[in-house]
Amino acid sequence: MSTSLEHVARPISLTAPSGIDRAAHHRLDEAWLAAAWSHPTTRVFVVSGGQVLIDDTPEGDTEIVMTPAFEAPVTETHRYFLGTDENGVSYFALQKDSLPGRMDQSARPAGLREAGLLLGHRDAALMVHAVALENWQRMHRFCSRCGERTVVAAAGHIRRCPGCGAEHYPRTDPAVIMLVTDEQDRALLGRQVHWPEGRFSTLAGFVEPGESIEQSVVREVWEEAGVRIGEVSYVASQPWPFPYSLMLGFTARAISSEINVDGEEIQEARWFSREELRRAFETGEVLPPSGISIAARLVELWYGEPLPRPTTA
Ligand SMILES: [Zn+2]
Repeated sequence: MSTSLEHVARPISLTAPSGIDRAAHHRLDEAWLAAAWSHPTTRVFVVSGGQVLIDDTPEGDTEIVMTPAFEAPVTETHRYFLGTDENGVSYFALQKDSLPGRMDQSARPAGLREAGLLLGHRDAALMVHAVALENWQRMHRFCSRCGERTVVAAAGHIRRCPGCGAEHYPRTDPAVIMLVTDEQDRALLGRQVHWPEGRFSTLAGFVEPGESIEQSVVREVWEEAGVRIGEVSYVASQPWPFPYSLMLGFTARAISSEINVDGEEIQEARWFSREELRRAFETGEVLPPSGISIAARLVELWYGEPLPRPTTA
């Protein structure tokens, strides 16, 4: 099996090169940030509750609605510097309690699951960065050492504690997601307890403390489906800010075939040959994994062609 996703037509959402230089060396340079903020080419968008405003262009593309900075009186607490592009344009996100009013009919609020499928690489990267920072900021307002309220620094990328001096950095929690195949090259797909009937996808889970990512793949498949794993191969990763994970995608080879689902996380798991899965898609018995998740790409990698588009949102 190839471990490249390049032959699959669609790139992995949120993972493609973005053309954005995060320019982290500017984050502590207040003078540079102030100059960049007031520069006429600078572009700013609001992020609120994981959503941004998106709009369709006359060319049929979808973009984040961005404005010059001067419209937005704001404290630096709410201002995240996201980077610069190849033309020297700086990008900021403003974290607000609500999105601005819609500027025209087609502008609309969207979360990453929708916008990630529509936006180009640059805007998808800007949005995922902003949403990840917002999620982290919202849930780390107090110092985990001493309990004091922390303050934002480094253009949104650090929270400092005035009580004990600790610096807190954005968290990224590793999670593994894996397409398991057996010796007949059938794929193991599972259905989570809270998923709609017919939705099957790859198994996944969080990396635990003191564990390698390969060990995590082996453990998760055993816990969720009762299947033993031999070889594990890394494929690709994907930022997954729900609220602040990094999805690490693998292929894994089963060395046992009997399935015993845990019944808590996974309701049902089945081995599918390509032909069985094709038929199940056609009859509607199985709904293809949808959306921006790398899960769909991992299944496509094995399936050999793009999955049917989901008929439900
Ligand atoms: Zn503290």
